Amino acid sequence: MAQRCYVVGNWKMHGMRADLSEARAIDRASLRLPKVEVAIAPPATLIATLRETVTQIGVGAQNCHRSEKGAHTGDISAPMLREAGADFVIVGHSERRADHGETNDDVKAKAEAAQAVDLGVILCVGESEEQRDSGEAEEIVARQLADCLPASAQRLSVAYEPIWAIGTGRVPSVQDVGTMHKWLRAVLMDRYGDEGKEIRILYGGSVKGDNAAELLSVPEVGGALVGGASLTADGFVPIIAAA
Ligand code: PGA
Repeated sequence: MAQRCYVVGNWKMHGMRADLSEARAIDRASLRLPKVEVAIAPPATLIATLRETVTQIGVGAQNCHRSEKGAHTGDISAPMLREAGADFVIVGHSERRADHGETNDDVKAKAEAAQAVDLGVILCVGESEEQRDSGEAEEIVARQLADCLPASAQRLSVAYEPIWAIGTGRVPSVQDVGTMHKWLRAVLMDRYGDEGKEIRILYGGSVKGDNAAELLSVPEVGGALVGGASLTADGFVPIIAAA
């Protein structure tokens, strides 16, 4: 079954209630672009309100705790996100790995915690600039993905986000994106068999209106995970339209 292209906005630590007008405009625009599955992951404080605000697009979270509940001050569990109205969660973003020391084992446990309450999962992987320069980016990222994969492929997507491309305006060549995505597909098929064929692999890192069509035309690229350009309708809608 051919899947729709999946274009997801990661708002990171941006977004106050006033910014929901942008989400509403994105929601309205996506009604005219039914070939694309669109979603936004706002900060956790806005999940419930965004859920009530939009009708077309998915609403997600940017992180969850690996446990269902417990003594973890400041953390939010997957069942809580689900109850707040999230339909998916991003796990393993490089900013969480860097800022909060998240390991591959944490990422795997978070993905499984999310799947246990039927949340979709977008599992992020990607290499640093030094790893890219070493000429071994594919081996490194393939191993990272293998170490993070949950036991089940249920509602799983993967996002390939080279760390050096995030928020920098730099993007890998379409050839490099294509090569990496083939490697990641091989890891998914090795782990899940035929089910691994259906898992969407998104590209993320400085996706903008003017490079989205080219990046999304690469075979094996099933969508985009978009940071900065997803914060406004003017930035995000051209990306959705290019998909
Ligand atoms: P960017 O972020 O689009 O601002 O580069 C992408 C991401 O971190 O998901």
